[in-house]
Amino acid sequence: MPKDSTAPGSLELVRSFVNSIDLEHPETLDAFADLASARVWLTDAGVDPAGLAPGELPELRELREAFRSALLAHTGEGDEGDAWRFLAEQLGGVRLEMRFARGGGAELEPAQRSGAEGLRGVLAAAVYDALRDGTWPRLKACRKHSCLFAFYDKTKNGCGTWCNMDTCGNQAKAARRRARERASARS
Ligand SMILES: [Zn+2]
Repeated sequence: MPKDSTAPGSLELVRSFVNSIDLEHPETLDAFADLASARVWLTDAGVDPAGLAPGELPELRELREAFRSALLAHTGEGDEGDAWRFLAEQLGGVRLEMRFARGGGAELEPAQRSGAEGLRGVLAAAVYDALRDGTWPRLKACRKHSCLFAFYDKTKNGCGTWCNMDTCGNQAKAARRRARERASARS
């Protein structure tokens, strides 16, 4: 698998949102642990951070995990319907507006671009675009449970399950091999 796991277009925003915490070492990286770092993250995402309240951080962290569940379902883990409903509950009330481009064509954009609602808006618009262009199922979460890193599957057949074959993929294979060896040693 190519080591470059970035997603095309606005879908990269969803990927980087899911990866805004290092689950193995949250003390070293969690952009939504406190207000100051969350505001920096929103600014980088093109959302005005001024309206973000400290009380909204837990719901944004929950939204991040709702995305991770949906991405994990793309890797074949968990129930895809349940994960989708969980994400829909979080994003269902978001308002998007149709913007007509001068040269033709139209896009859906968030009705507002500030605070937690603004972040939900840009993420929902990215999901909508990815559903339309067929890239959504290729945004996945690594199957290794201590990793769960979000990656864009660039394999030909779309069957990638690990963020990086050299690390997570080979570790998972080695663990399975050891388990098989232990099993055969017992029999
Ligand atoms: Zn991984």
